[in-house]
Amino acid sequence: MFDDTSPASASLVPPLDLSTLLGAIPELVWTAQPDGRVDYVNVRYCRLLQASFEQIQDSGWRQFVHPEDLERTLARRQHSFETGEPYETEYRLRDGQTGTYCWFLARALPVRDTAGQITHWFGISTDIEKQKRREEALRQSQERTHALMASNIIGIIVAEGEEILDANDTFLRMTGYSREDLLQRKMNWVDMTSPEDLDRTRQAHLELARYQSMKPYEKEYVCKDGSYLPVLVGGAILPHDPAQSIYFVLDNSARKELEQRKENFLSMASHELKTPLTTVKMCIQLAKTRLVKQGHHEVAAVLSMTEGSVKLLERLVKELLDGSKIQAGKLEYVQEPVDLEALLSEVAEYVQQVSATHTIVARGTAPCTLIGDKGRLEQVFANLICNAITYSPSATTIEIDRRVSSETVTVSVRDHGVGIPQELHEKIFERFYRISDLSQRAVPGLGMGLYIVAEIVRHHGGMIQVESEVGKGSTFHVTLPLKRLTSGVTFSSEVERERKR
Ligand code: ADP
Repeated sequence: MFDDTSPASASLVPPLDLSTLLGAIPELVWTAQPDGRVDYVNVRYCRLLQASFEQIQDSGWRQFVHPEDLERTLARRQHSFETGEPYETEYRLRDGQTGTYCWFLARALPVRDTAGQITHWFGISTDIEKQKRREEALRQSQERTHALMASNIIGIIVAEGEEILDANDTFLRMTGYSREDLLQRKMNWVDMTSPEDLDRTRQAHLELARYQSMKPYEKEYVCKDGSYLPVLVGGAILPHDPAQSIYFVLDNSARKELEQRKENFLSMASHELKTPLTTVKMCIQLAKTRLVKQGHHEVAAVLSMTEGSVKLLERLVKELLDGSKIQAGKLEYVQEPVDLEALLSEVAEYVQQVSATHTIVARGTAPCTLIGDKGRLEQVFANLICNAITYSPSATTIEIDRRVSSETVTVSVRDHGVGIPQELHEKIFERFYRISDLSQRAVPGLGMGLYIVAEIVRHHGGMIQVESEVGKGSTFHVTLPLKRLTSGVTFSSEVERERKR
């Protein structure tokens, strides 16, 4: 083993003071005979290898070189010793203490006498392990970037302002543009965005510039052939040049197509279910009337029981149908003066008739007329009151409060039931969302009611809010503008007739 007091310095070629200096520097210093035999190493060299000078001298150093680097290193040395050219190579040396290999850059120059003959080689090996690690990390990072750019799933573009500066093959393939088009600067995201998505896209770019990040969003690109491609886009600012941003684009067409098929199915299924259900309902009523006339009261009572199930089915099918229409932007509204006071009384009276478990208490008055769709507004309040009853099985009252100001009217439906956790106050208005709490699992429903309610309220220029605490009940507040003419509303006696049917 290496011993600090070993005679490494005893065989010094340089004078003692130079040797002391060479021992102090962090580099490995060595000298060699013209034929390459090592005849001096500094103390740092011995310390690193944990070896004595005797173990290193001549060709002893070779045993400390990484086996994969030895052949190349020897060849390089041999070449220099034969030609007298300066020697430079990188190799790994084994650290005697840890047993690990570290990278060194070895450089050597020949020392010549006055006749030009080489008398010695003077060499220095510098620790480049950190640099090598940085290079390796950089190489790996570049490899990852290349793999990402070459991905055939994600389209990638780099944009500055409105111009697309760079794009990977996947993006070009998705949009039908060629690399030529890109090089000729023919690609511009404004021209390539469908007009409906332009505002959303500009907003996303502003968001990115302001917050350095953006929420992924859906849009449609206009391809070179004019066709539209639904995509999901996410982006990031490039740190080295904040004027430039990189965007990741996922082809969304398969998902969109599936969604469309699902929508078509829901719309078709609800339509197909509606007609036989109406027939069943009519037949039950007819049979019931006849049975009562013929004095078969017991059988008529049994038949009455099926009416409840048919009504539930009817409600679910209607919700499905309305949900599909909302999704397709085809839910139609009529516009008419609505006496809200009368509407609320009618709804409360109707629900009270079918619910014996709860008393509906109306407070305040709302002597106002607003412009809207009476049937749809009835649907809103009937749904909120029915929910209030359904989700407060242990309570006995439902309260309806009304407040009118000069501009708006607010109707609040309060129950003393199970309540809704704070974090779900927004979620319950999403389509198909139902709270999967054990206590609510047995309650029939599709998670469509509040989605439809919110859509109708929004269409009337109003808003709906919920206040609720688990175990203490919920209050839904619906605020509607008074005498507001809703835009884009159809006056359709056809629709009206169809709905009343
Ligand atoms: P559903 O027809 O399935 O009840 P909704 O859209 O009407 O669907 O309601 C969505 C969810 O919100 C319900 O599943 C229920 O968990 C919750 N919810 C709605 N109203 C109330 C209420 N008054 N109290 C407690 N939870 C409610």
